[in-house]
Amino acid sequence: MLGIAAIAILIITQIIIIRGIWKQNYEMLDLRYRLLSQEAVSTIRRQRSIDVYDTVRFILDRYSEKVAKELPTISDEKKLEEKKKEILEYFTMVLNKEQDLSGYLSTYFERMGVEKEFNHRIEIVHLDIIGVDTFPIYQNEFFAKRRPPDQSDQGQGARQGSRGGPRIFPSPESTPESASADPRSSNILVERRGLEDNYYFLFFEYYIDFSDKRTMVLRASSASLAMSIFTLLVVVTLFYITYRNLMEERRLSNLKTDFINNMTHELKTPLATITVAGRTLEMEQIRTDDAKVLETAKMIGKQSVNLNQLINMILEISMWERTEFQLDKKKVRIEDLMNDIVNSFKVGPGNNASLSQKYNFSGIEADVDLVYFTTMINNLLSNAVKYSDKDPVINVEGFASDGNICISVTDNGIGISKADQKRIFDKFYRASSGNIHKYKGLGLGLYYVKKIAEAHGGDVSVNSKPGKGSIFTVTLPY
Ligand code: ADP
Repeated sequence: MLGIAAIAILIITQIIIIRGIWKQNYEMLDLRYRLLSQEAVSTIRRQRSIDVYDTVRFILDRYSEKVAKELPTISDEKKLEEKKKEILEYFTMVLNKEQDLSGYLSTYFERMGVEKEFNHRIEIVHLDIIGVDTFPIYQNEFFAKRRPPDQSDQGQGARQGSRGGPRIFPSPESTPESASADPRSSNILVERRGLEDNYYFLFFEYYIDFSDKRTMVLRASSASLAMSIFTLLVVVTLFYITYRNLMEERRLSNLKTDFINNMTHELKTPLATITVAGRTLEMEQIRTDDAKVLETAKMIGKQSVNLNQLINMILEISMWERTEFQLDKKKVRIEDLMNDIVNSFKVGPGNNASLSQKYNFSGIEADVDLVYFTTMINNLLSNAVKYSDKDPVINVEGFASDGNICISVTDNGIGISKADQKRIFDKFYRASSGNIHKYKGLGLGLYYVKKIAEAHGGDVSVNSKPGKGSIFTVTLPY
């Protein structure tokens, strides 16, 4: 939980940092283009004898002359408002369409090797039509509030006296603080300008906007973004690996606990029988009965062998744990070896099973360790008998192909679920996990089968359906 919380905090921190970098790059981009465009505007002013708004001026003055005459004749308030709206729209349209600044800016940007595709927008912030009287057409509230007091009345009173004379308008160069990006939009303010002719007085702002600004910012932030994602990926991967190892450790520890429980149970059974047999022998009436004494002694002997086997098994596990076991390989005819193993199993532990065998080894000989090979096949056979809820029918088949020997043991037993099939070859693993004593075992038989097959350079696989039976196939190279 602490790990997950730490990762969550890390992710949040990274997001905050990335957002900061993104914002900074965004502002940097704005600043860069603002400076560049202001530089461009002053260069254009210096180099060109005519103004980029000359056409605009000409069209607007002619239009204003016409409307200056019209305006005093409109007495209806509503009509007057409509006319004002129309005038404002016309001015905006002409300004946007007829100015030459955008073309020059684009060429300038291209020469400077920066993005030259942009959209422009001209917004009128103040407009008066001047006829016999001054007609205020539009005043942008935001702009009016922002304008310093000494400039705010430039529109009305000051103009009356200085009609046609030179007027100082703030430009981005002269008022750098006012040239900061307009808070209302993400557009870049290039210049703020005033135009005045015989019949109008106008104040406007020229903005540019890059349609793929996001891509440009993304390009600028890509290095830090990539680093951040990489760091996060490393941390998350490390966390995942650690977590997986922890879970694996826990699983192994659970398996070991299961094993100890099973082991105790397995050891207790013969021990209990021996204890009971010992008590029986203490009884007077038994001791006088030779047949009973012999039977009890045999029982003690059998259970002692069982105990011994179990103890040997534990010793063997720890021995196998320490070293990779050494094979003592001998060349044998596989068919003969298989016949021997299966026939002895038939008369021994598998005497209640119906066992059939069919081989097609074409008389080949293979190098195998006789003891381990026998243990491997015996383990498969005894599982086939053990994990059966009806009369066991077992089929052993074998053939050789492509340099491999394949031996399969098929049974009609209880079968194994898909989930268990992945784990049954693990050490100490027992299906339906835990301390189930219906089928006795320590979860080591198949672990040994796999180890022995691998030691011979081969492998073992299982194919099974619960309730239908199982097929274990051992493949060894020869
Ligand atoms: P053990 O038999 O001591 O439990 P094994 O390693 O031999 O250990 O088997 C592991 C598990 O695989 C068993 O607990 C059993 O559930 C399952 N298993 C093995 N062989 C068979 C089989 N022929 N049919 C059904 N289940 C089997």
